[in-house]
Amino acid sequence: MNQRWRIVALWLLPIGVVLLIGWQVISNGGLNSMNAGGGTGTTEAPRNAAVARMSYGRFLDYVEAGRVTAVDIYDGGRNAVIEAVDPDLDNRVQRLRVDLPGLAPELVNTLKQEGISFDIHPPRTAPPALGLLGNLLFPLLLIGSLIFLARRNSGMPGGPGQAMQFGKSKARFMMEAETGVMFDDVAGVTEAKQELQEVVTFLKQPERFTSVGAQIPRGLLLVGPPGTGKTLLAKAIAGEAGVPFFSLSGSEFVEMFVGVGASRVRDLFKKAKENSPCLIFIDEIDAVGRQRGAGIGGGNDEREQTLNQLLTEMDGFEGNSGIIIIAATNRPDVLDSALMRPGRFDRQVTVDAPDIKGRLAILDVHCRNKKLDGELSLESIARRTPGFTGADLANLMNEAAILTARRRKDSIGLGEIDDAVDRIIAGMEGRPLTDGRSKRLIAYHEVGHALIGTLVKDHDPVQKVTLIPRGQAQGLTWFSPDEEQTLVTRAQLKARIMGALGGRAAEDVVFGHEEVTTGAGGDIQMVASLARQMVTRYGMSDLGPIALEGGGQEVFLGRDLMSRSDISESISQQIDEQVRGMVKRCYEETVAVVAANREAMDRLVELLIEKETMDGDEFAAIVAEFTSVPDKDRTVVTLE
Ligand code: ADP
Ligand code: ZN
Ligand code: MG
Repeated sequence: MNQRWRIVALWLLPIGVVLLIGWQVISNGGLNSMNAGGGTGTTEAPRNAAVARMSYGRFLDYVEAGRVTAVDIYDGGRNAVIEAVDPDLDNRVQRLRVDLPGLAPELVNTLKQEGISFDIHPPRTAPPALGLLGNLLFPLLLIGSLIFLARRNSGMPGGPGQAMQFGKSKARFMMEAETGVMFDDVAGVTEAKQELQEVVTFLKQPERFTSVGAQIPRGLLLVGPPGTGKTLLAKAIAGEAGVPFFSLSGSEFVEMFVGVGASRVRDLFKKAKENSPCLIFIDEIDAVGRQRGAGIGGGNDEREQTLNQLLTEMDGFEGNSGIIIIAATNRPDVLDSALMRPGRFDRQVTVDAPDIKGRLAILDVHCRNKKLDGELSLESIARRTPGFTGADLANLMNEAAILTARRRKDSIGLGEIDDAVDRIIAGMEGRPLTDGRSKRLIAYHEVGHALIGTLVKDHDPVQKVTLIPRGQAQGLTWFSPDEEQTLVTRAQLKARIMGALGGRAAEDVVFGHEEVTTGAGGDIQMVASLARQMVTRYGMSDLGPIALEGGGQEVFLGRDLMSRSDISESISQQIDEQVRGMVKRCYEETVAVVAANREAMDRLVELLIEKETMDGDEFAAIVAEFTSVPDKDRTVVTLE
């Protein structure tokens, strides 16, 4: 639960005006009419090598920097040819190829916002004869290869078993003779490191254990959310012990052909035995190791065979084979119980998202090769990033370094860090809004959020309010949740609901019931989910402390096929009523607070439109000028 709340807190931070993309697309009359002019008019992406390639990430950077002048999108959004200017070379125009992840509406929106001329070229349809050939090619190939295989088999003593060579020919595991990673490179996971220190000794000096008759464990399971350093830890063990590192991802085991995964497992263990002592790392083991026989429509034969092979191989180790298997997962709950039996993955080590001290230590590691401004304190960065994992922090420092280089500074400063944090949480900065009615509405919406955040007693403090668009949000209000808070009270949850409703309430009070916008869609979704969880998970409603919904969302993938359909219709009706009642009361309360502070709000909106960004203290000071009870602690809002 603690983990869950940290994540919720993080995502609560940017309560933004998320204008639904779909809405924009509809109001623009669909994709086809979105041709904003320009473009070169050809229908085929030039494939000649003369056009240099550029990564999608850099392309986005270029767009942000206003260097892109035209974009031609091909192949249903998988390729583009762009024209960019280089300010360093007298604005010379360059043509570059970019591989796109598909025709994302976000991209189209960004291009439109940036005023970049772009064109979408329909995929070229092949002449009919060619199409037929293409259709025939696959069956021909398949038949061809079957004949080929059959021939080979008939001539060999192994018979049909030889078909297993399939998997062998493309061994998909990786072997690193030296990972080069040491425990020093992994920070913030002290407990896990202590546990794993012993594994290093197993690999380095097995005699110490075997001489006293101890059985060396074979398998160890690293459990934790993505990006917390599980892979890194496994590499560090191999690095410290100086043994080869074999790695393979669970999803690579599961293949289209039954038996291929199992043959990969056999290959992997064979290679490992030849190279012992060594370490085998199986990432995402839940992809193969899910509870057998679970899921809708029965099990997956291929997966089960693979899993069985894995279990057999693990059982086949004699005494001390010098091989230790480490597996990683973030879903230990769905793993087959056979995997956890003694002699298999019987040890579990949890690798959690780091706390503030951990984050500081991780930042230290990732600043080793970076130049920091003397003023910059890593501690304040650690404080600003609750919920960040090691991978997020590494990404943060890298983004900050890139920004620093782009700004032609020689050391990373606080400004770059701040911008990088904002960017990682809320996405890329967009073009400033143009003055007008919609900017005013967005300003009122955001001020509504921030006003509630400032005035309601149990709300997290406001960090800043901004009208600079970021990601899909047109404006953002940032809150700073209490550092390392793991338990959240009912009053705090209600305050969060009110805070999220603040935007809509402000639109409602200022512009009238008919003028409220789709911008509050994201807020309202969050409100619904918070209120529902209060009722069904945390027992915070009149229904009493009863868990009314299971935690498992993925019914068909997880362990129990039967979800909680044991809730009667009358209970589920009562849940709905409780949720609705709670949200309704909160909304009325929110509207009341907003209406009572209309004057302050008008002033704040005026200032916000002028300055674009206001920090929380400045905001609170202005609220205090207008309210008789400026001290947040004295503004008691009853929520019943
Ligand atoms: P996981 O396997 O748990 O998803 P990884 O080990 O792949 O996470 O982490 C990705 C990257 O994030 C690492 O290569 C490293 O740069 C950084 N990282 C993650 N956790 C830590 C940590 N505890 N200390 C230092 N760096 C970390
Ligand atoms: Zn909002
Ligand atoms: Mg990993």
